Amino acid sequence: MADKTLDTLFHETLKDIYYAERKLTTNLRKMARAAQSSDLKAAFETHEDETQTQLERLTQVFDMIGKRPRGKTCDAIEGIISEAQEIMEEFKGSPAHDAGLLAAAQAVEHYEISRYGSLKAWAVELGMDDAAKLLDATLQEELATDKKLSDLANGVINAAAQNAA
Ligand code: FE
Ligand code: FE
Ligand code: FE
Repeated sequence: MADKTLDTLFHETLKDIYYAERKLTTNLRKMARAAQSSDLKAAFETHEDETQTQLERLTQVFDMIGKRPRGKTCDAIEGIISEAQEIMEEFKGSPAHDAGLLAAAQAVEHYEISRYGSLKAWAVELGMDDAAKLLDATLQEELATDKKLSDLANGVINAAAQNAA
């Protein structure tokens, strides 16, 4: 299709991450409830709050391109969330539960980092500097969350999973 330009790709990808972020608000709440470690629980709760702000930023970006905020099913986030749910069910009450849940959460962050990285680059390419700034603000939060989760894993969570065995 000759009419499928970078603008189209930008809009379609915006719908993809909008869908993903909306799914994540509910699921971060579930993950916070499931976490055994109070530090991990707190990390999920903080990120759930950030996710609300991220959704507002996306709404602003939709507005900048003159579109209504709308999601389009993201199969990737559905899959990543299914894997997280599987861990929560299969490892419930087990020492390695939090290590698995944390790893699942990092898979979510890595998907988001990839999407926001591309969207930011495309916004720059399309000359939408304000949109690029908003997308970068979210990208930085996803990167910080991933770093926080790595620090938790390396600091206490993985060791707790191993020691309890
Ligand atoms: Fe997010
Ligand atoms: Fe997707
Ligand atoms: Fe995130």
